[in-house]
Amino acid sequence: MTSVYLDYNATAPMRPEALEALTRALAQPGNPSSVHAAGRAARALVEQSRNDIAALVGGPASTVVFTSGGTEANALAIDSAVATGSRRLIVSAIEHDSVLETARASGVAVEYLPVDASGVADLGWLKARLADWNPEDGKPFVALMAANNESGVIQPVLEASELVRAADGWLHVDAVQAAGRILTDSRALGADTLSVSAHKLGGPQGVGALTFGPRATLVRRQHGGGQERGRRAGTENVAGIAAFAAAARAALREPELTPAWRDAAAARLKVEGAVIVGEGAPRLANTLCVAAAGQDAALQVMSLDLAGVMVSAGSACSSGKVTPSHVLAAMGLGDLAACAIRVSGGWATTEADWTAFAEAWSTIHSRFAARHGAPVARYAASHDQGAPA
Ligand code: PLP
Repeated sequence: MTSVYLDYNATAPMRPEALEALTRALAQPGNPSSVHAAGRAARALVEQSRNDIAALVGGPASTVVFTSGGTEANALAIDSAVATGSRRLIVSAIEHDSVLETARASGVAVEYLPVDASGVADLGWLKARLADWNPEDGKPFVALMAANNESGVIQPVLEASELVRAADGWLHVDAVQAAGRILTDSRALGADTLSVSAHKLGGPQGVGALTFGPRATLVRRQHGGGQERGRRAGTENVAGIAAFAAAARAALREPELTPAWRDAAAARLKVEGAVIVGEGAPRLANTLCVAAAGQDAALQVMSLDLAGVMVSAGSACSSGKVTPSHVLAAMGLGDLAACAIRVSGGWATTEADWTAFAEAWSTIHSRFAARHGAPVARYAASHDQGAPA
């Protein structure tokens, strides 16, 4: 039976280079803090890996802090901003839950930067808000992700950074979905802090990093040893870090994905009335968020799974979650949000995978239409602009 994995935005398959680095490092004893030969070898591996991650995120290796993943990296940035005096946080409405929930839990005021119907952050709103900033709220902190995990929409980070810099603020960029796919050089993007995660680019789960620029001060969240120059206590995940670096090296070597296969699949679905979410905006080449009116997303995912095609309904980061996506709600999708699935490929995806997905989707759609009278086509006809953009 077909087995097509198109859920890279949840977790990409591990790259062979990463698996090799992981198993090799796991076979070596040694704590990087130990002074003997085994410890020094482990330390060398961590520091070489830090150079590779620095190449991914820009900036000197000394500004890369390894974490347990994207969630912790985001939290380290937000908690550091609050610990150093930010009393009010601006986070985009489409941020990942790790940003939204950490901001909400931080104990300071939170405001949401809106997005337009194609899922792009409203910089006019940001400019006006920063112009009106109350100095009593401390340094303005703004979180704007590089690319959204559900829609794939690429955000105007560089433009946002100019606004934030002019207001003497701190821009945090969650580049978890962007890393290895588009440029994530924190200096080129003007990010004060930027987070990445290994498992989205072909490394293992449970390892990530935060990089920080000269205008950001990191404050440790967990206490203990002096690892990561005192910024993140706890013995380093040496094997995970080595595998992360191997995946990053491989991702940086390969050419950027082209959207051609994804777009060919999307074109086929559109003929049958499907709506491509964020179609009018620049998007990651690997991501397709597609909605079919009347067809419950969870049912689509299950039917595709039975046909051997693995995709997600909205964000799969909290598995089993069936609540409507806050990202699609922020884009104003309304009821259609419950009918959107996310299809995402990557380094090992072939044209045949996208074709198999389009064929399976078409079959499921025809079956549904035969039973329910083609609500997808009816929706498309009643919204003749097609996409919600
Ligand atoms: N940020 C974004 C945009 C994500 O998509 C994810 C995971 O899906 C995370 C952060 C969390 O990363 P991790 O799973 O490494 O904690």
